[in-house]
Parts: sequence; structure tokens; C-alpha cells
Amino acid sequence: MDLGIRGRRALVTAASKGLGRGCALALATAGVDLVLNARGAAALAATADEARAQGVGVTAVAADITDPAGRAQVLAAAGEVDILVTNAGGPPPGLWSDWSRDDFIRALDASMLTPIALMQACLPGMMARGWGRVVNITSQSVRAPIPQLGLSNAARAGLTGFVAGTARQVAQHGVTINNLLPGIHATDRAAALDASAAAAEGISPAEAQARRAASIPARRYGTAEEFGAACAFLCSVHAGFIVGQNILLDGGATNLTL
Ligand code: NAP
Repeated sequence: MDLGIRGRRALVTAASKGLGRGCALALATAGVDLVLNARGAAALAATADEARAQGVGVTAVAADITDPAGRAQVLAAAGEVDILVTNAGGPPPGLWSDWSRDDFIRALDASMLTPIALMQACLPGMMARGWGRVVNITSQSVRAPIPQLGLSNAARAGLTGFVAGTARQVAQHGVTINNLLPGIHATDRAAALDASAAAAEGISPAEAQARRAASIPARRYGTAEEFGAACAFLCSVHAGFIVGQNILLDGGATNLTL
């Protein structure tokens, strides 16, 4: 399917690895010029090269997207974008009783206030030009809480509320905002969570992964390529009537009727 976005310009944050990288490469395949960001320069440069191999223009900005100065650097390099994919590393696991105010502020900064600041920067230009697409990478924890990820449960709920209201204000200008909610995908983050589960249970990381995969109706982890393809579709001309939605990509793991 031609996604109809060849020649558009996208900013994808936290895009050197994992799900952000999957989104960036899927957009590159669709002919979208990219501004990519991550903190580590080496992996970012490798992903930028892979995207360039699709024949699109790529600017890479190594910076911490959750830091105001880093974000300003990324936004300055991005200029006017038609597509914004927001992403950052997820908050660490822990126990509800242990988190301090500072822990919550850090999680809110990274998983709620950073994507909101990026939208506030990019939406006015999209609205003025009458076309835009925003996809926020959140988590299945928005639909069903993950006990040890309470910081994520809380911060992402805040972002979800902001998007629900804002998406319905900007849609009249041809701009859509939607959230993609990953369940378990085979990325570095999932490997780290498996390693910590393995340590806690006294089993190998491979065993922890096999147990987790067995709990998913699809009996496997998702891939960054599948995730990226869904993201690219939401950014396409065909998705203009999808507004303010929270779309689970979880192999059926979240046990819901609706
Ligand atoms: P990942 O494989 O660890 O990749 C994270 C990417 O984000 C890397 O490119 C990393 O590069 C970059 N990054 C992290 N913090 C950053 C920052 N402050 N500024 C700029 N770039 C940053 O993670 P992932 O699995 O793709 O997860 C992406 C998001 O989806 C996370 O929020 C995660 O919580 C959520 N999620 C993932 C899963 C899953 O199963 N994978 C499930 C539910 C939710 P640098 O480290 O070099 O900056």
C-alpha cells in the first residue's frame, strides 16, 4: 500500500534502537525525510545510515530529549515537521511505597511532559499547514496497570488524558494525534526486564523470556518492524479519520473485551 507520505518530514525521538528505530525505518521506507534523536551517538548514526539507504534525507541529533536544552537542540534541527513520533526510555521498575517525589517528577518529565512539550512545539505549524500526524509511543500499562511499573502507569495516564482532549481540538485542522500502546516487544528494554525477572526468580533470562512469551496469546514477543509498520500507517494519508485513539499492539496479552 502506498502510504501517501513520500516527501513528508518527520521527527522521531528516542529512535536509535527498539520501537523508535522501528518507526523511523518504516517511515523511511515510506519515503519520509527524518530527523532522528537519541542520546548515544554511535547507535544513532548506525540507524540514520540504515534510513538513508532508503533514499531519504536524515538528520541525526544526539541529545537527551527529556532535558530542556537537549529538546531545544532537537527541535531547532527539526524545524517544521509534518509527522512527530514521540518516544523516550521508560521509567524504572520498583515498588509503589518506595518512590519519592523526585522519582515521580523524573517519570512525569520523561513520559508525560516531554511528549507534551514536543507536541506544543510541533502542532501549531501542522495546524497552520492543514496536515499533520502525531504518534506517541506509550504502553499497554495505560489499559491495564503493570504492578512493578507504577511510575509508568501514572505518568502515561497523564499523557493519555492530555492527548484525549487535545486530539479533538486539532483534528479540524487535518492533524491527528494517536497513541500506540506496546505490549512486550523484543527490544533491549524487554531484555532488561527479563534479566531483572530472571534474577528475582532465580532462573535464566531465556527461561524468563519463554515464560513471558507463553503468557501472550500470540505466544511470542512483537517485533520492532511490526510496530513500525503500524506507526507508519497511523502517519499515512489513509489514517486521517483515526483521532485520539489508544491502539494496543500486544499479541492479545491485555485481557479486554473492548
Ligand atoms: P529500547 O530498546 O531500550 O530503546 C530505547 C531508545 O530510546 C534508544 O534508542 C535510546 O537510545 C533512546 N532513549 C532512551 N532515553 C532517551 C532520552 N532520554 N533521550 C533520547 N533518547 C533516549 O526501548 P524500547 O523497548 O524501544 O521502548 C521504547 C518505549 O516503549 C519505552 O518508553 C518503553 O517503556 C515503552 N515500552 C516498551 C515495551 C517493550 O516491550 N519493548 C513495552 C511497553 C512499553 P539512547 O539510550 O542512546 O538514548
